[in-house]
Amino acid sequence: MTPDFIREALRQVRYPGFSRDIVSFGLVKGVETTAAGVEVRIEVQTRDPDIPEKIFKDCHAILDELPDIGNVKVSIEIKDPPGSTNVAGTGKSSIPGVKRIIAVASGKGGVGKSTVAANLAVALSKTGARVGLCDCDLYGPSVAMMFGTTERPMSNDQDEIIPIEAHGLQLMSMGFLLEDRSPVIVRGPMATRYTQQFLRQVAWEHLDYLILDLPPGTGDIQLTIVQTVSVDGSVIVTTPQEVALTDARKAVAMFSKVNVPILGLIENMAWFDCDHGQRYFLFGEGGGVREAQHLNVPMLGQIPIDAETGRRGDSGAPVALLERGTNTVADSFHDIAAGIRASLKV
Ligand code: ADP
Repeated sequence: MTPDFIREALRQVRYPGFSRDIVSFGLVKGVETTAAGVEVRIEVQTRDPDIPEKIFKDCHAILDELPDIGNVKVSIEIKDPPGSTNVAGTGKSSIPGVKRIIAVASGKGGVGKSTVAANLAVALSKTGARVGLCDCDLYGPSVAMMFGTTERPMSNDQDEIIPIEAHGLQLMSMGFLLEDRSPVIVRGPMATRYTQQFLRQVAWEHLDYLILDLPPGTGDIQLTIVQTVSVDGSVIVTTPQEVALTDARKAVAMFSKVNVPILGLIENMAWFDCDHGQRYFLFGEGGGVREAQHLNVPMLGQIPIDAETGRRGDSGAPVALLERGTNTVADSFHDIAAGIRASLKV
């Protein structure tokens, strides 16, 4: 059984609604035959979900009938048609292999955005979902440290980068690729181009959720990211201080402008409970909750300052790995993850 033989067989599969077949249309991007079976890679540019489904079924109908074929795997990558626009009119596309994309953003640095992104990813994964986390911060990547990995990613035959695996998650960070490249030279339009290329070149494998840990702020890079890929929902992290809330407002405005749904705010460092049972509102009380009401977006959760959360973040084992009932911060992330799963329905 050779790849050419399989290609010939696939000429019997018509593009739905056309008399031409998928091979002559150039949709068959790869055919691999191994002792175990055959794998076919197809790329379709369409917005109609029935088309890939029909092609998938028709391919199987032909290939499954071939004698001694072994396992048949047909994977279809769906792309936006050229020149098409999405709801926001920005020409975004989905990331192959990913069902839902969630962007975690903050107007300001240092509010715990990466901590929230990492723990949200872990908590979603603990609900049974397949989850990836992508650190999009060119200038201060932190995913490697938060997950305690020093591994460098490899690439596959299609020159895509294969994510690193840790704690059952697929991880990718622009930091993994920056070895000799001084971040200083990757600025302005080059940073934008680099980010776009990066988002397209990761070989995510069957993810229910991909969490994008955006760089702090609401500048060009953040805008590029949310305009390049079709983000299903955004989470904005803030602390209760006015200075952070002002910037959180900008983040909400940015997502609204590009029609990315806002899943809600998370108020981090909301309070500190000391060992003697006293609660201290170090950065003021309830700033995030009031802001969420004012902006008319949901308040997803309040996360206290917690020594174990900080320690675990620095030592590669995010606090959300803890089972329910062990740590209040972990519990908050489990609750937030359950809420997000319910609203994004995957
Ligand atoms: P950002 O991504 O917004 O720059 P980080 O997530 O890197 O912020 O957090 C900055 C520091 O604060 C890290 O050392 C992190 O472990 C710590 N931190 C964040 N949130 C908490 C929290 N709720 N309790 C204790 N430490 C926290």
